[in-house]
Amino acid sequence: MKIDRRCFLSLVIGGAVGTTLTPVPWKLTDDIAIWSQNWPWTPVPEDGPSKFVKSVCTQCPGGCGITVRTIGDRAIKIEGQPDHPVNNGSLCPRAISATQHLYGPSRIQGPMKRAGERGQGKWEKISWDEAIKTVTEKLAELRTRGKPHTVACISDTDGNGSSYLMDRFLQAYGSPNFIRTPSSADAQELALYLSCGRQGTIGYDFRKADFILSFGCALMDGCDTAGQVMSAFGEQDKKTRLVQIEARLSDTAAKAAQWVPAKPGSETALALGLGHVIVRDGLYNKAFIDNHGFAFEDWQDDAGNTHPGYRSLVQDHSPDKVAKATGLSEKVIESLARSFARAHRPVAVSGLGSAAPDSLDQALAVFALNALAGNFQKPGGVFLIDEPDYLSWTEMKIDKTASAGNQHPRVDGAGSEKFAHTRYLPNRLPEAINSAKGDSPVQALLVAGGNPLYTLADPRAAQKAFEKIPFIVSFSTFIDETAEQADLLLPHPHFLESYQDVPTPRGMAHTVVSLARPVVKPQYDTRHMADVVIQIAKNLGGFIENAFPWKNYEDFLRKSLSDQWKTLEKKGFWSDSRSRDTSLDKIFRTSSQRFEFFPMSKFAAMNGNGNKKAGVEKIELPGNIDKLPLVLVPYTSMRISDGAVANTPFMTKTLDANVVLENDVFVEINPKTASEYGLSQGDKATVKTQAGRAEVRVNLFEGIMPGLVAMPAGLGRTGFSDYIAGKGANVYSLIAPAADPASGLNAAWGARAAIAKA
Ligand code: SF4
Repeated sequence: MKIDRRCFLSLVIGGAVGTTLTPVPWKLTDDIAIWSQNWPWTPVPEDGPSKFVKSVCTQCPGGCGITVRTIGDRAIKIEGQPDHPVNNGSLCPRAISATQHLYGPSRIQGPMKRAGERGQGKWEKISWDEAIKTVTEKLAELRTRGKPHTVACISDTDGNGSSYLMDRFLQAYGSPNFIRTPSSADAQELALYLSCGRQGTIGYDFRKADFILSFGCALMDGCDTAGQVMSAFGEQDKKTRLVQIEARLSDTAAKAAQWVPAKPGSETALALGLGHVIVRDGLYNKAFIDNHGFAFEDWQDDAGNTHPGYRSLVQDHSPDKVAKATGLSEKVIESLARSFARAHRPVAVSGLGSAAPDSLDQALAVFALNALAGNFQKPGGVFLIDEPDYLSWTEMKIDKTASAGNQHPRVDGAGSEKFAHTRYLPNRLPEAINSAKGDSPVQALLVAGGNPLYTLADPRAAQKAFEKIPFIVSFSTFIDETAEQADLLLPHPHFLESYQDVPTPRGMAHTVVSLARPVVKPQYDTRHMADVVIQIAKNLGGFIENAFPWKNYEDFLRKSLSDQWKTLEKKGFWSDSRSRDTSLDKIFRTSSQRFEFFPMSKFAAMNGNGNKKAGVEKIELPGNIDKLPLVLVPYTSMRISDGAVANTPFMTKTLDANVVLENDVFVEINPKTASEYGLSQGDKATVKTQAGRAEVRVNLFEGIMPGLVAMPAGLGRTGFSDYIAGKGANVYSLIAPAADPASGLNAAWGARAAIAKA
């Protein structure tokens, strides 16, 4: 099959004209007439004048501004907000079709309690008073028994007001177990903290960069950063060069000026190999290294022991060695390094939107390339964005029970001596519960966002762990895979029905805060999760009640945002350019006050682990290579929602017949590899890994490296509606977690696999 780059360009949405370039909206429009006749729940708008309401899409962390057209109390159409600094009018298909979820059959229509066995899908309607009373009584009982630390909360974010309120509730109540679901940014945030001493996110000035070196980021394939990247590409001058390093020809790779197919799992070696060439040839920014770098050269700790610096570390990654590890030629490695170093405004990017998580070492190795370029706080470079501080808080006092509870170690092991700098380790939660002797260390779980039974690696282990938790509350808007296993459903409204502050999206190079607002009246008997938490706090009384002096979430937002509330109500967002301070003197808050190439804090943490090796950890995939000779890699697609919330029917309808056919998912496989296994286009086959197996069909694709099998993330749902449930398989159920030794984060970039004709 001949790969024509132009045919991929049409798939990519870019800038101001982004949504019109993609076939997706046209396909959606085309299908509406036929399909809507089959959906009894598709609203038929009344005649009347249109109104346009500015809001923000909260369906992923991307934070794209939207304008919603309404007639009467019906949301009719969602478009990109042209003046929004994140996306400048661009949108992905998930937002375009969001009204289908608003009016669709997957909504939970009111509070319910389980009426049968867990997972049977039998529910009994209850009142909000009964629902809140049930949670309050359970939490009060655990506190009375001196076990507040056995309450845990899983949230999909720790950055907005409602997640802060939930975290504050746990602190006032007496539990340290606020856990954020995994994201592709976990390793980047930790790398930022270790090498720059800042808690926050790494921002990239994509609009002004002239060379973007992407280590497998799904910049234009999935959500997360799609809006901002599409918008930036629409604005860039033609000289900007995107180089995509990735084992398969994704839409991002097809849009790039250069696609570099490197073996998956070799990104750390490649980043260090590029560093080798840049250092060897003296192409780094000497002034930045001299004035703001630490551990570029070998360094001594307080005890006088010498440790290798970056120069020594990359010494071992000569192009010939890296060529073997990556499958690239030495010439390509040398050329990439020089192109990056000689660019005026280069950025090296890792982790954004990727389907597979990065290891900490990969994040550090890629981040170090930016330090070699000395491109911090410069137009077209990297900006350090602190975690949100736009909400003002009242002081909080806690009682003895809360104080004792908060001092218990976290159930996921984050912040322990072993993983001192890691804030959340959601993938360790199932093991912590499954390996516990006696009662589950989690007695009550509040699922306040995310869909862990779908998105956690190895969902079977997570399912087993959830079965051991006596009391599970889901705040989900939809019947998702986690809600299916809950005891109580307390449905949160759809994002077009409620307020929600949205902090600076990952990857943005300056602060942008947006406000989602009620565009239409709630369709069902839902309540904002934060309103429920505030009510439970008031019911529990004492110091817990005192920690929540607000009537409800809206009252909290108005008071905490003070003057910014007016701007948010008027414009839908506000941005703050102070985060673009160009002074380098105060931006590094490490103990050395410099950018640390070999972070001392990482070294100390590894030393604490008894791991004194001052090198780089390669994440090996478990499994017998003779029995599992291939490697399965997940990939994201802009047309398949791969997070907590499943596809809308329209999105599913836009999938090509070589991605999903009826209920079968296709895996991509190189024709050479396929012929070794006697496989032809469309064949039914079984993919097997250590973690599980899936029935699939074969799609021969020359744009994937031999030896790999690629499968889209986001399918294999059991929850949601008939329009998506039962289609394909969940690729994460085939990939067992692989713990990063330095951080404990899951760094499984794939799984050893075998494929055989069915
Ligand atoms: S990228 Fe995320 S925030 Fe932006 S439109 Fe898509 S789903 Fe919404």
